[in-house]
Amino acid sequence: MVLAQLGGSIAAALARMGKATVVDDKVLAECLNEISRALLQADVRFETVRDVKANIKATANLDALPAGTDKRRVIQKAVVGELCRMLDPGKPAFTPTKGKPSVVMFVGLQGSGKTTTCTKYADYYRRKGFNPALVCADTFRAGAFDQLKQNSSKAKIPFYGSYTESDPAKIAVEGVDTFRKEKCDLIIVDTSGRHKQEAALFEEMRQVSEATKPNLVIFVMDGSIGQAAFDQAQAFKHSASVGAVIVTKMDGHARGGGALSAVAATKSPVIFIGTGEHIPDFEVFDVKPFVSRLLGMGDLSGLMDKIQDVMPVDQLPDLVSGAFTLRLLYQMFQNLQNMGPLGQLFSMIPGFSAQFIEKGKEKEGQAKIKRYMTIMDSMTEKELDNTNPKLMNESRIKRIARGSGRLVKEVVDMLEEHKRIAKMWNKLPLNNRKLNTNSRDSLK
Ligand code: GDP
Repeated sequence: MVLAQLGGSIAAALARMGKATVVDDKVLAECLNEISRALLQADVRFETVRDVKANIKATANLDALPAGTDKRRVIQKAVVGELCRMLDPGKPAFTPTKGKPSVVMFVGLQGSGKTTTCTKYADYYRRKGFNPALVCADTFRAGAFDQLKQNSSKAKIPFYGSYTESDPAKIAVEGVDTFRKEKCDLIIVDTSGRHKQEAALFEEMRQVSEATKPNLVIFVMDGSIGQAAFDQAQAFKHSASVGAVIVTKMDGHARGGGALSAVAATKSPVIFIGTGEHIPDFEVFDVKPFVSRLLGMGDLSGLMDKIQDVMPVDQLPDLVSGAFTLRLLYQMFQNLQNMGPLGQLFSMIPGFSAQFIEKGKEKEGQAKIKRYMTIMDSMTEKELDNTNPKLMNESRIKRIARGSGRLVKEVVDMLEEHKRIAKMWNKLPLNNRKLNTNSRDSLK
């Protein structure tokens, strides 16, 4: 996902700032310029970027800080805080209550993924014990009825629609009434996403909304539409009282800025993101974890703080710009072993979490680290600092296994593990390191 590039660039700007010998207005300005560039490249609107920059500057307020304050940390916090604020309009969206009938209307342009998302949303709540139902109020697009019907039968969700009725408001009301009687507690109304004229589309939306009185109107937006997102979201906001946003196609080449713009335009929170064509490809959207992942593919914002404790500062440059060698891994293990709860720390390191901190398996994680360190103890200096993938041939691996009293397989596993973690680090475009822009691994 290209969004990773945005996070990586911001993290890189913070890391560079973190390395400056003195943090002054000039360093802050450079850092903010880098962050602004990254946001603009991710398709966030100029006006939003300008505000973000001004807000970070005002929050950090370097001149007013008492002597001895850790300015780096103040700036990092201001950046993370501002990114969260940008994505969080401050008022939570309506959430349906089990057993109490709610009507949720979906709006958005044709092709945005609206119909697919209606089913995903219904399925999500059904799994939570709701009794959802779908109503197709799109009479404009031939095939809309069949598509929603097909989706709903796949997901085993009751469906209402009509082949012959041409008044969307009438169908919507009939559908809502039918399902109210059937004691459905979440009635989802899918509306048309296209008309001959835009004005007619918005007028139809208004009529359906007036007829069904939805508790929530969700605007569905294609995450890959870039700069156009702001105007589109604003147009929908003006015509229907949008209360929440779902951004789709975040699995593809979405640069992510569209999501930020939609929040700014509708002043409504993003509640879910679509990450694929299938029903389970749907994720709850929470601002803080999202920003953390955005910045570090783990919790890099926390890691930045922690890392300065576990890593002597003079080693930071290596970590940030150099290759992720075995020696670096060893040093990290060593420093981490002297620190508090390992699980918490590892969860912040991109690429580590799954392997080392599986809940209840922290002891095994620690044993694994010890084993890996023993293996590395039998390596030569050259091997520890190696950046050539071909160096570790069979005879070296056998020698290391013998020397450490470990199995060849364990050495191979450790090398694979190192490669995997190094790959995660390399995805961060630190110092303009090239990103694998299509990969989703980094955000899992
Ligand atoms: P509508 O016209 O807005 O109702 O859009 P549809 O629900 O028909 O979706 C348009 C296309 O986008 C279909 O091919 C969907 O499978 C696809 N789609 C919807 N959501 C996602 C998503 O989150 N990721 C991807 N990759 N495709 C999606």
